[in-house]
Amino acid sequence: MTRTATLDPQTTAVINRLNHLAGQKPELAEPIAFYQAALPLLRQAQAGVEPFALPLETARNKLAAGIPLLLGEDLPLDPDRTRDLFSRLCRVVEEVGRPARSSKNGWGLFSRGQPDSAKLLQQAHNGNEAALRAAAAGQIRRAVEQKQLHLLPIWSALAVGDYFLIEQTTRDLKLEAELLRTLAQTSLKPALRAWAAGFKGKVDLNEWRRGQCPVCGSPAALAEIQGKEGARHLRCGMCGADWSYPRLKCAFCAHENYRSLGYLTVEGEEEKYSLQTCDACRHYLKVVVTFEPTPVDLLPVEDLATLHLDLIAAERGYSR
Ligand SMILES: [Zn+2]
Ligand SMILES: [Zn+2]
Repeated sequence: MTRTATLDPQTTAVINRLNHLAGQKPELAEPIAFYQAALPLLRQAQAGVEPFALPLETARNKLAAGIPLLLGEDLPLDPDRTRDLFSRLCRVVEEVGRPARSSKNGWGLFSRGQPDSAKLLQQAHNGNEAALRAAAAGQIRRAVEQKQLHLLPIWSALAVGDYFLIEQTTRDLKLEAELLRTLAQTSLKPALRAWAAGFKGKVDLNEWRRGQCPVCGSPAALAEIQGKEGARHLRCGMCGADWSYPRLKCAFCAHENYRSLGYLTVEGEEEKYSLQTCDACRHYLKVVVTFEPTPVDLLPVEDLATLHLDLIAAERGYSR
């Protein structure tokens, strides 16, 4: 793929991993194409983020009191740059869903193997959904450009886990709520990742014993069983933070009764992936066995690679 030629080695590694995944799972064409196009934008944006630090004493006190480090702080988020990133992400969704693109697989992802009829059907179905999403992304982008949709309150609401404002705003403006939420969250990631990286090696996150992220307060995206010792860590999909958490404890309701916690695996991948389910709160978490902590840019790739586990969990009545 020629577009990888000018990218840094880390981005290229992620894009190669995505190409490999696309060959294995054609049904993931749309999210893979989105992430391949979005990743260089996110990395570029992260490089330009204004740093944020807390006095170590304050950081320690916040963690000891159970308050995520970034919560309640006056953060140096650059609204113009973040809005610009948001618009570019909208355009990526528009581009990925353009009919010519999806029908010809214009992202160059599927050169391997002969497509069978089931795959073709799946791709046609994906094309249709992608086209709908592209139209919805265009509406959202124009609403921002025409100053009908204001992102600052949306970002502030997301920062404290308040989704009501998004629902209300999208109802009023007839926009797609789920897509707006995803794009607004994604546009915040470069800043959150830069700030989380700034705490690394300075603030010890391992004393934190909660399921939500100690840096930005988001729910854990997945669990990792790391290294030879098999220590269990939780990972944040927003800022990339990594903190230890007991194996036999639900990351959502902190329930510790082993009888309500279950593990599900798929034959052939027991060594790598599993699901931890909790019958007390009916939530689940995907568990990945890794030698080293997964680099933050690869977390969404692990998430995509294990989409079948989300389906299994949903079939059994567990939610994320
Ligand atoms: Zn976080
Ligand atoms: Zn639970």
